[in-house]
Amino acid sequence: MSTPGPIAAIEPLLAEPASAAVLCDLDGTLAPIVERPELARVPDAARVALARIADRYALTAVVSGRRATVAREIVGLEKLTYIGNHGFELLLPNAPEARSAPELGSRGRVAEEFAAGLDPAELDAVGLRVEDKGPIVALHWRGAADPAGAQELAVRIGAAAVEQGLFLHHGRMVLELRPGNEVNKGTAVESLLLGSEAAVALYAGDDTTDLDAFAGLDRLETSGRLAAAVRVGVASAEGPTEITALADLTVEGPGELIPVLAALAG
Ligand SMILES: [Mg+2]
Repeated sequence: MSTPGPIAAIEPLLAEPASAAVLCDLDGTLAPIVERPELARVPDAARVALARIADRYALTAVVSGRRATVAREIVGLEKLTYIGNHGFELLLPNAPEARSAPELGSRGRVAEEFAAGLDPAELDAVGLRVEDKGPIVALHWRGAADPAGAQELAVRIGAAAVEQGLFLHHGRMVLELRPGNEVNKGTAVESLLLGSEAAVALYAGDDTTDLDAFAGLDRLETSGRLAAAVRVGVASAEGPTEITALADLTVEGPGELIPVLAALAG
């Protein structure tokens, strides 16, 4: 589908940056997807633009599935706000630690306890990698020795996790086991924006979980809390088709997002 040019699409933000918010997903949006997630990095040009955006806009946030402190390390900017673990964590500018979403209550460790019971030999046999992210446990098969076998094992583990009361979330070659289903990128973006001065907001993302954030913007726009919202879809072969179908502006990968960030930075 065709979308307007970058400048036309972001005009609602350029009119009054001090009353606008810029929110971006990290992996696949700011940072190109890499085989080993620990090697992900944000291009310097994107970092420079984000730093300038943070100085000019009401709110600048990175919204990630990673731990909030890890997202901040990768971006390398202390003055941004970080939503981590898909909304389960909030790390404010220059704060030493992230705080947990209050909705989580006493269920902060249920996913971790479930993962402790998994058989390491069975995981190793197919190369399924378990990432402990605090309240969330992620099962990764990107780069696995046996990707099909690893995905199959992840699905089986997921079914057992659901029986234990955990919730599943599917991403790009990752299955997450979560302690609850009432928190997502959308609810987190919504509460962050409600607590800000922003009357206009932009969200850029590439994956299924970013559709929740798009929905969060929709709700705020419908209620009139936001005068305008701009959804930027970062297209990829692995991402859902809705991400570009629902977008106001589509870019082809993180590289094409950089000029949009530069234009926002002014
Ligand atoms: Mg992403």
